[in-house]
Amino acid sequence: MPTPVGILESFSEMLGGPEIWIKRDDLTGLALGGNKTRKLEYILCDALANAADTIVTAGAVQSNHCRQTAAAAAQLGLECHLVLGGNEPENISGNLLLDRMLGAKIHWAGSNRKGEDIPEIVSQLRQQGKNPYIVPYGGSNEFGALGFASALFELDQQMDTSKLSHIVFASSSGGTQAGLMLGKALLHKSYTIHGINIDKDMSCKSKSFAQIIADLANSTSEKIQAGKRFELNDVTLDSNYVGAGYGVVGDKEIEAISMLARQEGILLDPVYTARAMGGLIDMIKTGYFSKHDRVLFWHTGGAPSLFSYARELLS
Ligand SMILES: *Cc1c(COP(=O)(O)O)cnc(C)c1O
Repeated sequence: MPTPVGILESFSEMLGGPEIWIKRDDLTGLALGGNKTRKLEYILCDALANAADTIVTAGAVQSNHCRQTAAAAAQLGLECHLVLGGNEPENISGNLLLDRMLGAKIHWAGSNRKGEDIPEIVSQLRQQGKNPYIVPYGGSNEFGALGFASALFELDQQMDTSKLSHIVFASSSGGTQAGLMLGKALLHKSYTIHGINIDKDMSCKSKSFAQIIADLANSTSEKIQAGKRFELNDVTLDSNYVGAGYGVVGDKEIEAISMLARQEGILLDPVYTARAMGGLIDMIKTGYFSKHDRVLFWHTGGAPSLFSYARELLS
């Protein structure tokens, strides 16, 4: 870091809409990169401060968050336990292959894909005399969000953000969006933080996903005594593109992947960034932006899971 920023010239021209810029957080490093690097920098600092020797986190089979957590734990000499949804697939590929290469211990959780089994595993680890530290689903707590508040300060050093009208990105466990909202408030910017909702099941029984994001932005602000307050209507969460659900690749995702690959030589991932970019392409086609807008697409990584979606992508 800082990760590169640039204009997608031929892609913007092809779409005939606003100028589209890209922030390349697919190039953050840490075992093939992605947005979780920024979160883990803060979260694992807290783990070390608490003398943790073991990291426990959860995610989907092709979780980028789990792969990056496994890499960060390896780098810091910590044991890493991943609680993955579903059952062990026949074909070990993409992020799951990398989890294995990075030495993570994998627990299969069946239908408990959001870490419901973590307390049980943590108590077993304690009985073994270990000091486990839980990294929340998607790394989305106050520490994780701080990584993205500071990412906007990084962006500010790299380009003239006064002309920027929108930042568009994939939003799934909310830490990225909460952090960007706080960073924007701290920098007194006027651009819209436009999260594209990836996972239609993200709201809890009692709380909408947008409310979860607002609450996290508030608790993160409190953590650093920033004095910023966020209400539900400060959250721009676009749920028009959730499609058939998390990880189900549709036509918009496939179109986005091949357009960006062929026009710019940049790879999107099928679950997150292709859904967000598919949404952005659709918004341009349907006239959501004016020609004078300047839109930044925040590439949050994830390309390793491409290898596990060959069948869908080539069909
Ligand atoms: C985790 C992830 C996101 C979503 O970030 P959240 O902070 O969980 O909302 C987006 N893109 C990729 C590639 C991810 O791995």
